[in-house]
Amino acid sequence: MKPVLLITGASRGIGAATAILSAKAGWDIVVNYTQNKAAAQTLCKQLEALGAKTLCVQADVGVESQILSMFAQIDAHFGTLNGLVNNAGVVDMTSNVVDMSWERLDRMMRINILGTIACSREAIKRMSTERGGKGGSIINLSSVAAKLGGAANYVDYAASKGAIDSFTTGLSRELATQGIRVNAVRPGIIDTEIHASGGQPNRAKDSAGLVPMQRAGTAEEVGKAIVWLLSSDASYTTGAVLDVSGGR
Ligand code: NAP
Repeated sequence: MKPVLLITGASRGIGAATAILSAKAGWDIVVNYTQNKAAAQTLCKQLEALGAKTLCVQADVGVESQILSMFAQIDAHFGTLNGLVNNAGVVDMTSNVVDMSWERLDRMMRINILGTIACSREAIKRMSTERGGKGGSIINLSSVAAKLGGAANYVDYAASKGAIDSFTTGLSRELATQGIRVNAVRPGIIDTEIHASGGQPNRAKDSAGLVPMQRAGTAEEVGKAIVWLLSSDASYTTGAVLDVSGGR
């Protein structure tokens, strides 16, 4: 039986690229999405053509009851879980902190932080060797914004990703003897639709000059780092935060 990997926010962007690379690397895949059912279903067909078994699950990781329902569906369908990529994440429109509404902050922190922590909690219950699991691997999506701070753009997003770095360090140490490795990938400017959702559709192209390598990265370049960290080739790597940012 192949190992089973849950990728949150896998219907497009970095999550979808990671799903394809993971299927090629021998994983069965749970594709989570919130809105874009058609894209998620198309991706599942692609993954099945690569030999992977799939499960497509609609769930908002900013809502605990939907996370619990997603894991119950995984239990019923696969009966096991071996890996988790906490990829689902959102930005918001460019803003100074002084103008940020409570609703904006609440949405950002629920999806980016609480979703990651609660999905990890549910994965630990199923993977920890202390709870009868077979161990596993968790990858969290941070951002170089965690280092740079996102001033006059999205400090709230940067702060949410700073929390992901701390969570990765702490959880990796907490689980080090429970067969679960925990690592983070910290992408720089990657060419996906996330920038359009923050009102800057040309950001990847326009920001190339800010990157030492003078270009945006691709979702596949981030996915390859994730797939390596998931794999047994990274068996002695836990608590790492790997920049995939063209030197930024
Ligand atoms: P993207 O293209 O905007 O895709 C986001 C994915 O997350 C979609 O599959 C979306 O599903 C899903 N999603 C959004 N909100 C969700 C929720 N509440 N619950 C479950 N799924 C949800 O994003 P991306 O650029 O691939 O980014 C992926 C991750 O990398 C994020 O954590 C992001 O912060 C991080 N990152 C990205 C960049 C970059 O430059 N792109 C840089 C640094 C870090 P639907 O299709 O159903 O809406």
